[in-house]
Amino acid sequence: MLNMSNISKIYKTGAIEVIALNKINLTVEEGEFVAIVGPSGSGKSTLMNLIGCLDTPTQGEYWLDGHKVSKLSDDELADIRNLKIGFIFQGFNLLHKLSAVENVELPLIYRGMNAKERQERALRALTKVGLENRLHHKPSELSGGQQQRVAIARALAGDPPLILADEPTGNLDSVSGKEVLASLRELNQQGHTIVLITHDTQVAEKARRIIRIQDGSIVSDERMG
Ligand code: ADP
Ligand code: ADP
Repeated sequence: MLNMSNISKIYKTGAIEVIALNKINLTVEEGEFVAIVGPSGSGKSTLMNLIGCLDTPTQGEYWLDGHKVSKLSDDELADIRNLKIGFIFQGFNLLHKLSAVENVELPLIYRGMNAKERQERALRALTKVGLENRLHHKPSELSGGQQQRVAIARALAGDPPLILADEPTGNLDSVSGKEVLASLRELNQQGHTIVLITHDTQVAEKARRIIRIQDGSIVSDERMG
C-alpha cells in the first residue's frame, strides 16, 4: 500500500535546520491497521503530512498505491490525495448546516458523481459506522463520537485505498473515544487499510501494529497477536 525509503524532512528557518524526520523506512501492506505513536515534537505531524501527500520530503522515495509521490507537484499531490486517502482529523471538520448524509456526500459532489450514486455510497458508509438511523441529524444533534463516525463515513465514501486518522480521539471523552476506535477496528476487519497517528499509547494499542517514533526516527515496530 505504501512504502517510504530513506525519507528525511529537514525544515530550514533562517540559519537553523531541524531534522524532523531522519531516514525513515516504512512499509504498510494492504489490510493493515498501523498506529504511529510518539511524544510531542517527535515528527508525527511531519510524517502524517508526508503520508497524506500534504507535503513532500527533503530526501527519499515515497510510493503510495503504485504511484511515486515523493517528486510530485502540488496539483498532482492534490489529485492523489483526493483519490487515494480518506482523512480523519481530530476536529471532525463537519459542516454544521449540513446533515450527516449531506456531509458524507460533499466530497463526492466535488468528484462529479451523480446524486443517486452519491446517496447510495453515503448510506453505505454511514451504515458501516452504525449511523444508518442518524442520516438527517445535524452535527449539533449528534454526540462527539457520532460526529467523528460521520467524519469516518465521509473518509470512507470515496472508497480510498488508505484511511489516515490524525489523533481521531483527541477531542473526545474516553467513552466516545472507545466507540470511534471500535469503529476503526471493525473497518479494518472488513479489509480497510488504516494508519492512525497519535501521541496516546493507549489509543495506539487498539491497532494491530505499533510503530514508535522518537526524534524523527522509528525506534520500534511491533505487531500485536
Ligand atoms: P509532532 O507532531 O510529533 O509534535 P512535528 O512533526 O510537528 O512533531 O515536529 C517535529 C520537529 O520539527 C519539531 O522539532 C518541530 O519544532 C519541527 N517542525 C515542525 N514543523 C516545522 C516547520 N513548519 N518549520 C520548522 N520546524 C518545524
Ligand atoms: P493537528 O494534528 O496539529 O491538530 P490537524 O489535524 O488540524 O493538525 O492538521 C494536520 C495537517 O492536515 C495540517 O498540515 C493541516 O494543514 C492539514 N489539514 C487539516 N485539515 C485538513 C482538511 N480538511 N483537508 C486537508 N488538509 C487538512
